[in-house]
Amino acid sequence: MAEIETPAGVANELRDALRSVLGDAGVVSDPALLAARSGDWSEATKMPPALVLLPRTPQQVADVLALCARHRQRIVVQGGLTGLAGGATPAPAEVALSLARLDRIEDIDAVGGTATVQAGVVLEELQARVESQDWYFPLDLGARGSCQVGGNAATNAGGNRVIRYGTMRELVQGIEVALPDGRLLTMMNRVTKNTTGVDLKHLFIGAEGTLGVITRLVLKLSPRPTASSAALCALPSFEAATRLVRDMRRALPGLSAFEVMWSDFMEAAQEIGGLRPAFAEASPVYALVETQGARQEEDRDQLERFLGEALEAGSVSDVVVAQSQGDAHRLWAYRETIGEMLGQLKPHAAFDVGVPMAAMDSFVRTVRDALQSRFPAQRHLFFGHIGDGNLHVLSGPHGSAESLHRVEQLVYEAVGAVGGSISAEHGIGVVKKEFLHFTRSDAELELMRSLKALLDPAGILNTGRVFAPTTSV
Ligand code: FAD
Ligand code: ZN
Repeated sequence: MAEIETPAGVANELRDALRSVLGDAGVVSDPALLAARSGDWSEATKMPPALVLLPRTPQQVADVLALCARHRQRIVVQGGLTGLAGGATPAPAEVALSLARLDRIEDIDAVGGTATVQAGVVLEELQARVESQDWYFPLDLGARGSCQVGGNAATNAGGNRVIRYGTMRELVQGIEVALPDGRLLTMMNRVTKNTTGVDLKHLFIGAEGTLGVITRLVLKLSPRPTASSAALCALPSFEAATRLVRDMRRALPGLSAFEVMWSDFMEAAQEIGGLRPAFAEASPVYALVETQGARQEEDRDQLERFLGEALEAGSVSDVVVAQSQGDAHRLWAYRETIGEMLGQLKPHAAFDVGVPMAAMDSFVRTVRDALQSRFPAQRHLFFGHIGDGNLHVLSGPHGSAESLHRVEQLVYEAVGAVGGSISAEHGIGVVKKEFLHFTRSDAELELMRSLKALLDPAGILNTGRVFAPTTSV
């Protein structure tokens, strides 16, 4: 599983050519840095890359790709390494191309509401910068302090506010990509509407770096919400949660998050995160809800009124409405302990499946029962962005790769049976590729392979991610 293996070398001729493009400082072979770049947050086998390449400009990225294509040198693209699918984890003899030095916010268009950024900008830095100019970049997820916007686009990241603002796919307006043959494809569109043939940016969003390296992005901003209200609801059943989200969407157009945590998750959050229970009595399901708007007092009153009525009607068993930003942070803390849980329950299987809402309740029951009976010593935690039909399951710690594989087989078979998606937001990487057929047809896979062969005929870029390679270097 997670042991570190030794990298193979890179030919001296290529090494010298890379130095002439990137300078000595841009071609790193220091063992400590190689070890630090040996994998992401997934359980994929850690492997130091043969070299770490640190370009400073998009053109340098393109030049590196052209050189590597000529030498048939395989490359793994690395953003913030927070991915949960092993896509950025090096395979044997790969060099790592890191976007860490392409970290400039080039422009914030305060009139049109766009940010032009390089791919290595860390999400949290972008959020803070645009907010200081009264704009808002709504993508938000637990890894915000390390993940990069390029990585977010490459994985079509989702996170907590998709219910209101959509996934990264909806937030990218323009893109620049270095293709595996060394061409730089600049499509930095800044207009909202653009119906001029095939929208090529979508080829690269969610492709997990298999078709090109994202070097720059034009991101769509929203006006900064000046008010935000949050509440934690204890619910008698999952069915109550589905009614609540439907009714809230109708009554509260500012609804910006609807996160569900089943009792197993809540208990683990209290234990692992050292958090006090929010309610005197435990409930089977909890919903963390958030609205964003422009009038703090009015918005909170509206949320309080809505939840008060739900309480009277019995569709909510208990509720805590945050009275301050500090309260809201304390409520979000239950959900945000996921970062600690991912660390503590290793080796784990972490799922981000998409399940049709109508099938969610029975899916959770069936999968939980099966996991509990087959793996009684492990924790199996259920939670997710349920407003988007996106369920997370975290199962661990598992003592062997075989046990992890059995858990994956069990969950993905159940996803296939309800016509869901094996990855709603983290991507396929290497850890899910053998299960892709549960979600994608042979015809779809064939077309994906054709696109890969067209754009990366030498098979050098993130080869073996998403699907098995068809060409060999
Ligand atoms: P990396 O891990 O470095 O790379 C991810 C993939 O993208 C790899 O295949 C890599 O090769 C490729 N890649 C990276 N940069 C580029 C580029 N510039 N061009 C082309 N390909 C590139 N994800 C969600 O969607 N929603 C969540 O709610 C969420 N919560 C998380 C919480 C925690 C605590 C953690 C650790 C992770 C979470 N994630 C979540 C997963 C992860 O943070 C996201 O997938 C994130 O978008 C990855 O960005 P990164 O820069 O770290 O990419
Ligand atoms: Zn998520």
